[in-house]
Amino acid sequence: MKRWKLHLRTGTLRSNVGSGIYMTIVWVGLAASTAVRTAQAAVTVNSTLLVLARNAAAASDGTGVLQGYGIPYQVVDLSVASSGLPQLNATPDAGNFGGIVAVSSQGYTNGDDWNTALSDKQWQDLYRYQEAFAVRLVRLNAWPSEKEYGVQSVGGAVTADQPIAITNAKEFASANLVEKAQMSTPNLSKYPAKITNTTLATEIAQFGSGTSTTTAAVINKFPSGREQQVWFTTFTLDRTSTTLLSHAWIHWLTRGLYLGFRRVYLNTQVDDVFVMTELYQTGKSYRFGVNDLKDHVTWMAEVNSKLPAGSSYMIELGHNGNGNIEEAVEHDYDNEPALCDPQEGIEYEDQIDGPPEYIKPIGTGKDLWNKKFRSYTWSTRCSNLDPLYVYLSATANRGNYLHVSHTFTHEDETNATLADVRKEIAWNQEWFKRIGFSDPSFSNNFSPNGLIPPGITGLHNGDAIRAWLENNITYAVGDNSRPVLMDVASRKSPFHPIITNVKENGYDGAYIIGRYGSSIYYNCDLPKCVNDEWKAIAGGTGDFNAQLEYERSVNTKYLLGLRWDPYMFHQANMRVSDTSAVTLLGKNKKWSLLMAWTEAVVYEVTRLTTFPIITLKHDSVARAIIARKTRDECSPSLSYTLATDRKSITGVSVSAANKSCAAEIPVTLPGDVVDAGGSRKEKVGGDPLTVWVKLAGGEKAFVLGSGLKVAEN
Ligand SMILES: [Zn+2]
Repeated sequence: MKRWKLHLRTGTLRSNVGSGIYMTIVWVGLAASTAVRTAQAAVTVNSTLLVLARNAAAASDGTGVLQGYGIPYQVVDLSVASSGLPQLNATPDAGNFGGIVAVSSQGYTNGDDWNTALSDKQWQDLYRYQEAFAVRLVRLNAWPSEKEYGVQSVGGAVTADQPIAITNAKEFASANLVEKAQMSTPNLSKYPAKITNTTLATEIAQFGSGTSTTTAAVINKFPSGREQQVWFTTFTLDRTSTTLLSHAWIHWLTRGLYLGFRRVYLNTQVDDVFVMTELYQTGKSYRFGVNDLKDHVTWMAEVNSKLPAGSSYMIELGHNGNGNIEEAVEHDYDNEPALCDPQEGIEYEDQIDGPPEYIKPIGTGKDLWNKKFRSYTWSTRCSNLDPLYVYLSATANRGNYLHVSHTFTHEDETNATLADVRKEIAWNQEWFKRIGFSDPSFSNNFSPNGLIPPGITGLHNGDAIRAWLENNITYAVGDNSRPVLMDVASRKSPFHPIITNVKENGYDGAYIIGRYGSSIYYNCDLPKCVNDEWKAIAGGTGDFNAQLEYERSVNTKYLLGLRWDPYMFHQANMRVSDTSAVTLLGKNKKWSLLMAWTEAVVYEVTRLTTFPIITLKHDSVARAIIARKTRDECSPSLSYTLATDRKSITGVSVSAANKSCAAEIPVTLPGDVVDAGGSRKEKVGGDPLTVWVKLAGGEKAFVLGSGLKVAEN
């Protein structure tokens, strides 16, 4: 049997243990599961979480952030007549669940209406199970109870806004939440409490501020050794407070040792780079310039210097190469001889776009590209007539941004022909070759397999998708605001991509990853424009600062909820160099709309957490999202072994229903591993360490040399 030695430095899990103490971990590669039993101690616990939900809506509120981590769980919907508790343990020495979450989304009227969902005997069964296997319980949306939690209700249920904040994160330090960072909770059911039994209850979160505070959550430690974390508020996934506070209970419940992975990825994609945009209301054409790009380089450096350790934010530009040719031609008329051949970009009659969900019959539509455009002939001298091209082709500048295709001319692809889309893709690839982006030395910044479809069209056009795939475009972004596009039956989770199929998309095999829009619209360059448009088309109220407040609240929730879908912006949103200073977010300076949105969102995430914020380029974020799907479909599992006194975890074993899983399985540990024995380690900033395990047909086990404490004394 091959063995690897690992050393885990305990840090966040056991604050009483100095950082200099190392835990010895020995990885054991197992050819057969029988070896697990002979190699390890007798008491084992499957780490899968048991989620007890009053109804289906409650189940999704309890599991949404777990899906972001990829932590295995099993839901019991107690509103279904035949439901009941599953078997908690097969034998006295084999537990089936590593944690229990009781979640609800129903308001309380008369005390604990969980009594209608679970009998007292069932609760006792759960408690005995907890005691036997040192398994923790989390109760969300609980009504304050002296007997059960050591607290009393203070003034009954409230929905009016009261800030909520973590006050003591010591027992879930690996969650990396900022103590005392408040969040508002309008229209969220809350049951303010006060602790009456300080032996039983320790406060971990508060409602209110100043001298007017009440208890929002406690940790209970019973004399029997049983432990529970209890929240006196509803958890509902459409709230930032829920996605944020979910990290508190997940890390406490798992003790920071779980099958899964937590990372925040933020990609702000700027479409229409090189083309002109007709602005809202004025109808004027606008195209950003070199100074706007320079100002954003300076600004990105400033943002990165303020983000938590491990962060790396970078803007991604979605290019339309034909916009460069059109600009170059404008500067070429006085040249003799002309530098551009032909002395024109691609132009065609105005398109009738049609509804974006139109399913185009294969082979239909009319070519818009003039037949005279047979191959790409413009020279670099021609392209260089455009200062934007000169700037971005310089090695020193291009690496400050990420780059991806938005097609050559931005032809709408709803009804486009195979011939046109082939050119739209291939000519932009030729343009990328000439500007140097597709050079292998630039692969960290360029996404050769990605596409931002113009107006997110073509996703029901089999000819378009065929042309993408023929040209190695395998990843396209979709639009999360279009249910027809994103809510398809084959997509089992919002954390997964869609794979196109003939019936719905016209062609098999392209990946569509989600993308978020915002109220920073494509046709605005300045705050007034975008604020006017927000009010006119989206019922927005308030000034641009209010609009940023809205964007902050909507999008922080997605980032904290571990959604990795990129965000949509456009080139006009990067206008900054020739603007006047304005006061936004309390700072008087020159702002682009992109800067304002990004600062509103990322600094909110860093106010609440110390999570690093990382940009993955288009192809990499697509691969990360596809890997989530692959992992989930392998049904990975983790079980751990308890010492014979059941007071510490001594070993961990990773497996899956599909042991030949193509994806690596992440195991996150509450400490630093010095030697991962061949498995890939990933540790960024203050985020916990993840060891990526390749199963390769068998289970993988590791032994924690000095154990991970799970019980007091
Ligand atoms: Zn566009």
